[in-house]
Amino acid sequence: MDLIQLLFVIIGLLLGSFLNVCISRIPLCKSVIFPRSVCPSCSQQIKFYDNIPVISFVFLGGRCRLCKARISWQYPVVEILTGTIFWITYLTYGAQVRSFILLMFFSSLIVLIFIDLNERILPNIITLPGILLGTACSFWISIDDPTGLFVLKNLGISEQLEWRVSFTNSLLGIFLCGGFFWIVAGIYLYLKKSEGMGGGDIKLIGMIGGFLGVKLGFLTIMIGSILGTLIGLSFIKIMNKDIKYELPFGSFLGGAAIVSALWGQQIISWYSNVVNSIRIQGF
Ligand SMILES: [Zn+2]
Repeated sequence: MDLIQLLFVIIGLLLGSFLNVCISRIPLCKSVIFPRSVCPSCSQQIKFYDNIPVISFVFLGGRCRLCKARISWQYPVVEILTGTIFWITYLTYGAQVRSFILLMFFSSLIVLIFIDLNERILPNIITLPGILLGTACSFWISIDDPTGLFVLKNLGISEQLEWRVSFTNSLLGIFLCGGFFWIVAGIYLYLKKSEGMGGGDIKLIGMIGGFLGVKLGFLTIMIGSILGTLIGLSFIKIMNKDIKYELPFGSFLGGAAIVSALWGQQIISWYSNVVNSIRIQGF
């Protein structure tokens, strides 16, 4: 690991510590900047040397220095996860504008993943600005997706400027991925007379489509649904929960979006190779 890699990991760990604050305060509608963090048990302010990512948790044996109450495992997990994602993003895209935009996207997703896991909500205060941000960023980094070009050609717009194609891809991502969820949610509501997918999920997939475009947006839906079904149903079986137990679908979508953004193109070409080789073998 060279110096720049180490720097990305350290920034990731420190930002992860801030994301923990967002995860616990945003659902309570509290400021994420003031006041300084306190122990949820004894309400004593946490000293800066007890707030060093991962290290303090290990050093304190996972307990508050003053009242010895257990500190949630979620704190070091979020910090390590953020540090690792920062590292992988640097290894994949280097120190470019694309990496910084992706890291902003991933950080918002990490907050949403854990809020949905804890509270079963996906706050508008993250998803709505996220949709706008994804669209704004499409001007800087080009979204590589054939859908935008196809639509522009069929609209009779012949001059293909890179930003125009990318911006079209972002808009199509928001409306096609979000629209798909909106229709599925509507059908579910009509058939089952109960809400299966909330408005939060629709806005989240809209945000993901806005950053990644239609192709990777739908890949996210596919991976998220597979993960949700496999992990969710195993969890219900192992923990003996009711089949109607509400699963955090947003958490699965968030995780799937990170995977799609980092390895989506590889997954799609791997999949089409498998399909082609099956075809050649004559099945
Ligand atoms: Zn305490």
